[in-house]
Amino acid sequence: MLKGMEVTVVGGGIGGLAAALALRQRGAEVCVLEQAEAIREVGAGIQVSPNGLRVLEALGLGAAFRAATVRGQAVSMRDFRRGREVVSLDLSGLPEAQSYRFVHRADLIDLLAAASREAGVRVRLLQAVRAIVPGDPPRVVCRTGDEGRADLVIGAEGLHSVLRPALNGAAAPFFTGQVAWRAVVPNTVGHPAEARVHMGPGRHLVSYPLQGGRSVNIVAAEERRDWVAEGWSHSDDPANLRRAFAGFGGDVPALLEQVEAPGLWGLFRHPVARVWHGAGVALLGDAAHPTLPFMAQGANMALEDAWVLGDALERAPDIQTGLAAYQQRREARVRRVVQAAEGNAWKYHLRNPLVRGVAHLGLGAVGRLAPGRLVGQFDWIYRHDVTAPGQGA
Ligand SMILES: Cc1cc2nc3c(=O)[nH]c(=O)nc-3n(C[C@H](O)[C@H](O)[C@H](O)COP(=O)(O)OP(=O)(O)OC[C@H]3O[C@@H](n4cnc5c(N)ncnc54)[C@H](O)[C@@H]3O)c2cc1C
Repeated sequence: MLKGMEVTVVGGGIGGLAAALALRQRGAEVCVLEQAEAIREVGAGIQVSPNGLRVLEALGLGAAFRAATVRGQAVSMRDFRRGREVVSLDLSGLPEAQSYRFVHRADLIDLLAAASREAGVRVRLLQAVRAIVPGDPPRVVCRTGDEGRADLVIGAEGLHSVLRPALNGAAAPFFTGQVAWRAVVPNTVGHPAEARVHMGPGRHLVSYPLQGGRSVNIVAAEERRDWVAEGWSHSDDPANLRRAFAGFGGDVPALLEQVEAPGLWGLFRHPVARVWHGAGVALLGDAAHPTLPFMAQGANMALEDAWVLGDALERAPDIQTGLAAYQQRREARVRRVVQAAEGNAWKYHLRNPLVRGVAHLGLGAVGRLAPGRLVGQFDWIYRHDVTAPGQGA
């Protein structure tokens, strides 16, 4: 069904580019419209878990991706004061093609953009699409250079999607009472290939190495009453970040000392969109289901969406049937992940020292006595394989 179909993808982020490549590989004529002047990403890291890696493998990018990333060996949960390890989740036993990876977003975007272009996807920059109307999509077709209507327009324009309200009406996101700083610093602390979660009262800090271990990505979340606007354009004074995490020990002071201009983000809750598709249009990634970063799954879900959208359209007799199957195959899983991310932050932020001490002792005991149980609780996320034959059949 996809052969020769004209598809316009609005948004050249991780989800949009992965969808463009997945559809192009199945024979569609694909054009990506990106508002920025270049396909690039803000400087920050993301964790790609085995479920996301499986999609990159299926797109034929596995080896190149693995070469550009750090393989995560463990997730180490730490007490904030001296950085003492409470428990470690061992990830080292995962097979290479289903491993846990740390990547600079720019490296993943570059890989997807190069593969898309090579496969014949047209990418048009400086194209800010102001409206996508179901049944009357924007007049853009890239194949011939002539203007015309695409058969399908995919809204992969992220958090501030223009298609989402056209399908669902306006939503009122609310501030969660948390902000997050993000920064990438040189790895002067010899950070090993693991994600470290430093848990403190009302705040936590995650660090992991990037780019062959040369740099370290920092995500630092703090509970707050007052909020900043949503988006990544806010650059904060690094002194504010250092002040917020002043009581943290271990490697944290040395890492924060090097931060120059951290991004600061107010964390907002958005409901998962009820309607993901209309006549000739579909939502994908953050545009459909923005999630809090506490399960590190937003980009992984966008990758899964991209694969399933291509697969569902290929199997369907017509576009609308394919789009309905796409939402049906994705929605329950995405809702569960979004809920899990919402429920995670408070576990890291226990304020009462007694409660925190008991919780950390309990975690440590489970880690010693039944280590498999700790990693196993995430099997439903990491072991899921949207690319497996028979999925959605
Ligand atoms: C602190 C933090 C840490 C995170 N860590 C992780 C992690 O470890 N692992 C993980 O999986 N996820 C993580 N995420 C989430 C992840 O970054 C997002 O879920 C993911 O990038 C969503 O991809 P997307 O393609 O849907 O949207 P985006 O990445 O937002 O891409 C949207 C693209 O569309 C373009 N665009 C927007 N509007 C228009 C328009 N009108 N016209 C044309 N183009 C437009 C934008 O310029 C952009 O290029 C994290 C997020 C945060 C905030």
